[in-house]
Amino acid sequence: MAIQATYLDMPLDASDLDVENLAYFKHCAAHDFHLHRCGACGLLRYPPTTACPWCASPKSDWVPVEGSGAVHSYTEVHHAIQPAFKSHTPYLILLVDLDTQKGQPSEHEALRVVGNLVTPDGRLAPPEMVCRVGIGTRVHMVFTDVTAGLALPQWTIDEGATQPTKPWRYPQE
Ligand SMILES: [Zn+2]
Repeated sequence: MAIQATYLDMPLDASDLDVENLAYFKHCAAHDFHLHRCGACGLLRYPPTTACPWCASPKSDWVPVEGSGAVHSYTEVHHAIQPAFKSHTPYLILLVDLDTQKGQPSEHEALRVVGNLVTPDGRLAPPEMVCRVGIGTRVHMVFTDVTAGLALPQWTIDEGATQPTKPWRYPQE
């Protein structure tokens, strides 16, 4: 069944034909993080796609994956393009290296999952939280409920983890 929802005044749509994303977000709606595992070479992949990027096999299964990792890179948004995001600036868009399968199939590879920095209950993080996060910060996944049948996988600071003394951030004013 197709997904149609609104998040911060923006439409979110996945059509009936987009079977990979519908399956992915069905797991997210249950606050479970699942990824495709290739039926031929066994590697996980992200984002959901019809074939393995490593060996091109169309065979795959959905498997549960732990939503934990470290920030690989980030964008800090100070000028929102969408009006509804304006009251949330500055906000962070994170690219997170999952611990699972990091360094495979080559040392430079990782499953890199994008999401916003949010509070533990899934709301866009306030400025005092944003300024604590940089490259290397340990994060774990939480879900932002949008509507029945749709939740967005997001990231929050892993307060129980050992954090880098000073995560790398762009020079501040
Ligand atoms: Zn494969």
